[in-house]
Amino acid sequence: MSSNCDTCPSKGKCTSEKGSCSIENNVNNKVKKVIAVMSGKGGVGKSTMSTMIAKTLRKKGYSVGVLDADITGPSIPRLLNIKETEVFGSEQGILPVTSKEDIKVMSINFLINDEESPVILRGPAVSATVKQFWTDVYWGELDYLIIDMPPGTGDVPLTVMQSIPINGVVVVTTPQDMVSMIVAKSINMARKMNVEVLGVIQNMSYLVCPDCNTKIKIFKDEDFKEYIDRMHTKLLGEMPMTLDLAKISDGEVTQYGDKVEETLNEITDEIEKFCK
Ligand code: ADP
Repeated sequence: MSSNCDTCPSKGKCTSEKGSCSIENNVNNKVKKVIAVMSGKGGVGKSTMSTMIAKTLRKKGYSVGVLDADITGPSIPRLLNIKETEVFGSEQGILPVTSKEDIKVMSINFLINDEESPVILRGPAVSATVKQFWTDVYWGELDYLIIDMPPGTGDVPLTVMQSIPINGVVVVTTPQDMVSMIVAKSINMARKMNVEVLGVIQNMSYLVCPDCNTKIKIFKDEDFKEYIDRMHTKLLGEMPMTLDLAKISDGEVTQYGDKVEETLNEITDEIEKFCK
């Protein structure tokens, strides 16, 4: 297996001299676009949004994969209700597990016997694992590979950005004061690494009253739109907090309500537009 610019999702847009970057592409893969989902801190719904973006793109007819790069807090198999804890190899590379929605997934949870076992690895080993999920996994042909990034702006997200040819970044946040400052760090990090930021999803933006359908804002965030302008980025969508979204791992919910579906369509429309 060797590096190959011809199978790189950045082909045509890359400014590095041929063969000069540190990215290794698996010659057997044809991944068209790689979209990373980032957040400044954990618990804001990054993995939930990665999962819902993947499901929506799949519903729209695209071939989709999810690379769970959140090695120490892997939640994609749970969120996609995948029970397997085994992966198999082939001549082309490690085979990802396919969810019932026909989404290909690779996660460290498939490589450990018990999903409750902690992943005790030092930074470089975590980074190496993520790198392998790109170079050694046989993703085959994919329209979109969604990367559920590790939270924050530390060592691992940095290596991910250096070793996977990410076309664009979606940042997930919640409407709280402190979070904006931390979000700015993610946006600025992506820009420093020359990765384009598609925009920001404000998750848990509001609740909908089940009796009168009124939007209830839990947090005070009047300045969010101004903040988005100041960061020269875009608000991709305001996602409500709903019970259905909180229990996607049950695998039983298939409809998420108009507001959630509308927001997911808005977000994925932007991703499609960006990737054209
Ligand atoms: P992160 O990946 O940022 O750590 P998760 O996606 O794991 O965050 O979400 C953290 C928790 O919040 C989970 O329990 C998840 O079910 C819940 N959650 C995320 N987004 C929503 C939402 N829009 N509505 C309700 N619950 C949500």
